[in-house]
Amino acid sequence: MIGKGTRLYSMILHKCPRCHEGDLFTSGAYNMKRFTEMPEKCSHCGQRFMLEPYFYSGAMYVSYALQVALFTTVYVALRVLFNPPMETYMITTMVVALLIFPITMRLSRSIYINFFVSYDKRFRQKQV
Ligand SMILES: [Zn+2]
Repeated sequence: MIGKGTRLYSMILHKCPRCHEGDLFTSGAYNMKRFTEMPEKCSHCGQRFMLEPYFYSGAMYVSYALQVALFTTVYVALRVLFNPPMETYMITTMVVALLIFPITMRLSRSIYINFFVSYDKRFRQKQV
């Protein structure tokens, strides 16, 4: 189990990077109308989630890395398990990328904000 206080905890569970208590997103990943919505600040410690205007445009680089990892994983899995024709690789990769897009988008934002905000145990139990 991933413990509180590690960046991985905040990244995987989409928790506030400073207190690991508040949620980074307001709804579930597959709520198609609201899956990108984030509260302005943490409900627990008050950390602002939009550090500067267009802050999350930098998360595209993280998203790119996640997509490359995904494409590689799908390719290797298909190659090892079925060795299908090339069209199958392309179609399967696109379908998988579309299906998990909300997850990769949210994960990339979560990873990106953790580059800039560190865990601070003083905010663990304190309510602001
Ligand atoms: Zn917080």
